[in-house]
Parts: sequence; structure tokens; C-alpha cells
Amino acid sequence: MILIFRNFKMILSKVRATNIFCLFLLNITATVAQAPKPLMHYKIDLLTIVNDKVYVQLETPKQDKEVIDFLFPRIVPGIYGTMHFAENVNNLKAYDASGRALEVERPEPHRFRIRNADELAQIRYHVDDGWDEFDEKYREGFYRSAESSFHFDSFAVINHNSLIGYFEGQSNLPVQLDVYRPGDWYGATTLHRGKSTYNMDVFRADSYRELVDNPILYTRPDTVWLHIGETDVCVAAFSNTGQKLARGIANNIEPLLRNQAAYLGGKLPVDAYCFMMYHALGSPNSYSGDGLEHATSTLCLLQCPLDSGAVGDFVYGLASHEFFHIVTPLNIHSENIQEYDFVQPTMSRHLWLYEGMTEYATIHMPVWQGMDDGFRSFLQKIADKLQQMSKFDDALPLEKLSLEAMERQDQYYNVYLKGTFVCLLLDLELRQRSHGKYGTRDLMRDLSARYGPDKPFVDADLYQVIADMTYPEIREFFSRYVEGSERLPLEEALLKAGIVVDSQKFNVSLVRNPTPEQAQLRKWWINQ
Ligand SMILES: [Zn+2]
Repeated sequence: MILIFRNFKMILSKVRATNIFCLFLLNITATVAQAPKPLMHYKIDLLTIVNDKVYVQLETPKQDKEVIDFLFPRIVPGIYGTMHFAENVNNLKAYDASGRALEVERPEPHRFRIRNADELAQIRYHVDDGWDEFDEKYREGFYRSAESSFHFDSFAVINHNSLIGYFEGQSNLPVQLDVYRPGDWYGATTLHRGKSTYNMDVFRADSYRELVDNPILYTRPDTVWLHIGETDVCVAAFSNTGQKLARGIANNIEPLLRNQAAYLGGKLPVDAYCFMMYHALGSPNSYSGDGLEHATSTLCLLQCPLDSGAVGDFVYGLASHEFFHIVTPLNIHSENIQEYDFVQPTMSRHLWLYEGMTEYATIHMPVWQGMDDGFRSFLQKIADKLQQMSKFDDALPLEKLSLEAMERQDQYYNVYLKGTFVCLLLDLELRQRSHGKYGTRDLMRDLSARYGPDKPFVDADLYQVIADMTYPEIREFFSRYVEGSERLPLEEALLKAGIVVDSQKFNVSLVRNPTPEQAQLRKWWINQ
């Protein structure tokens, strides 16, 4: 077991708020004079948080249009409802290089229209936080883990989509983000780091999408690093009780992460991963959580009593699914995700893959790896998912649910149930046809090699691509069970592996005396 504690220099900030504003202004003049290559250069000031409002400043790249629209997202990847992040943006002003104010209108809540944009040099505004306290209050369609929250003396959860905007049509511009923060705070994130000073961090992203995909948790360091395969995994935590939680969480999830890495072939497809955990003390027996997965990090908000066992269990459950997202959608995703539209996204038809395959790996890994209790709990998970799936509309094809995920939130959870079973059936089908040599693990590895983080697939082509990579008959499998709504043949398929499914009683058990064929397929499929 390798646990590495990073030692952070704790240098208390002595810079006063007024100095920061001056610093910002001086920098702008210098940057504009040098006419750098197009770059969205943002500054966030966590040193002068007043009434939970943060000051943000953007030095804009040269614009050649008369009129330009500066937008804030209405939605981000991973959530399926509009959230209007711009509603917390106040007092947005635009300036030319000499500091003269330019005309700004707000034709829509998320859209700021700037005139004489060819003279634009700088935008400044304040942003209020999206939530103050993590409490039990539930607001339909409000995803806390996609919002930001900051307290001047203790922490900042930064989801860039709620603090930072982009010019319409220019979300592919590279971004530099300078965060001014107290000297004893550390920002846990998987954003690329530039040079930091005692009270300022510099981060870089290749695009707005990449920036949004890498949130930051700022607080006094409670950070543990694990080295898994060749990947540095950071566990960073904040608790409003003042307790340190990161070490307990890291101890709890380390065996899981090691097994996940082994399942994926030993080497993970990312250099770094970060679990960011915010904990707020809740009333006794009150537990709630809110998490959002990203390509190389997971942000988790938890409200519960200070009980290290409960926090550990919660993160374990979360990590067992979220960590597998490093395979898909990070390395295997469609063009609709690569060119994500933060105002009106076009949904991909492949939630069966992004969520279904991720969840399938989550339940398949422990049994494949021979983890304690893996086989029994695998069968139990199948039974539980069968029972849960019975509450959803089986006539709704998974592809349709995926394309209409925003409108079909009532059915959305079925991607973790029916989506998982489609992948289970696909795995069994591939194992059977290949005499044990090829399964979904191999398929995901081959798809990752063929595509990757920067090379999306064409959304409409993926079924045929998979059939071409495996067996022609697999195209029909997708027609029937993903594009179509044919009932999944779970009983028949699992019986071939010596497992009896009672879909009425949601009971899953082993055949008492399996035939050699049943035993062989089961061995190929789940190593049991
Ligand atoms: Zn997921």
C-alpha cells in the first residue's frame, strides 16, 4: 500500500483585497499591449469573497465582429435538465483597452450581447454561489454538484460553468485560469497546472469543454495521494466539522481501485484522477449525497453525521461506478459529446454504452477479479436490478431514452438497469461466439485504442463499427435490444451459463448440476 501525503507549504496570505484588484488591472494592460495569440484569460478572486459573491475578470482575445454574445451554460454534460447557471451572474460589464465601458444588453438570461466588440478588451462581473449550505432541501432539476459554492474562510467548490462564460462559437479557444486564493488553501483538480505563487494558481485547459470537465475543490489541504498502476489518484476532502476525512476515504477505496485497474489490464488510460469530497454535518440519521462524474475526477457532496464508516461506504459505492468512466465516455464517445453545446445539446444515442457499460463493469469487476463475496453479490445485484427494472417502461427503446434523456427523466434511471443488462447479454454473446476469447472488456479496450479522448465516433455508426470489429450478427443484437424494444432474453441467456433467473420473483440462483457447456460459458464469462 502506498499512501503519499503531500506536504503543502502553508503561507498565510498577506495580500489585501485592494491590491488584488490593482494587480488584475495592471496585468490587463500588459496583456493587451502584447497582443497575445487567442486565449481566454480568466481571473477568479477567492480572496475578496463578499456576501458569497466572487469577482471574475476575463481578458478577451481580439474580436473582429461588431457585436458578440458572451454566454453562460444552461446545461452541462452529466445532467439532463436546464439549470440556468447565469442567474447568479451580477453586474457584468465590458471594457475596451482604455477602460471605457462598452454597451452590454442581456436579451436572454444566459446571453450577454456586447456592442463595439472589436474594441473589447475585458469583461468583469460578480457571481453569487449556487448553494450555501448542503441541506436536505430538494429542488427538482437542481443539481448541486454542477453548481459552485464558496465561503471566504473555509472552502470553495468551483464548477467553472457557473463562474465562467464563453463567446458564442468560440468554446474551442484555449483557456488560462488564474485563481487568487488564501495562501494556505490547496486546489484539488485534474486541470493542467501552470506556475503557482504563494496565493495564486495558474491552470490551463485546451477548450471551454475541458475547463468545465475539471472542477476544483479549494480548502486547507486534506489530501491523500494513491499511486494506482501508473496513475496518481488524489483524494481531497473538506468537512465543515473541521475533521480530516481524506485518509480514511483513501484507505477504504484503495483495494477497490487496485482491482479496477487490474480489471482494465493493469494500466489505466489516465495519468491522474481526483476524488473531491465535500462533507457537511447533517442531523442524526439524515444521509444525502449529490455527485457528478467527470472524465478524470468525481465531485461528491455529502450531508451526513460525521461517521467515517458511513462516509467510507458512500464513497466506495460512488467510486466503484464513477472511476470506470475513465473508459467511457472519456476514451469512447460520440461527436455530440466532443462538440457539446452548453445551451442546447444534441444527445447521443449511446447511454447504453456510457452508463450501461460503466455500470456493467461495476458489477462484473468484483466477480471477475475474485473479490470477497464477488459471486454471491453479483447474483444479488442481478436480482436487485431485475426488480428495479420492472418498474420502468420496457417498451421504451434504450436508444430513444438516450436521445430524449432530457424529456424522459422519469425513465432515465433505466439506463443503469436495462443498459447494464444489454451489456451483460452482449458480453455473454461475445464470449460464446469467441469460445471465451473475447468479451466486453476486450471490446472496450479495442474501442479505446480505435478512438480515444480526442477522436470521437460518429453517433449513428457505432453499432455497425462494433459489428465489424466482432461478429456481423451483433448488428442485429443492437437493432433488437437497443434501437428496438424487444424484451431482453435474460432467462435464456443466463441459463446457458448455468444461472436460473425467475423474472417474476426476481430470484437468481445457480443450476444444481450444470452441464459442461454451462460450466464452460460461466468460466469464460465470470471466471467462476
Ligand atoms: Zn455514470
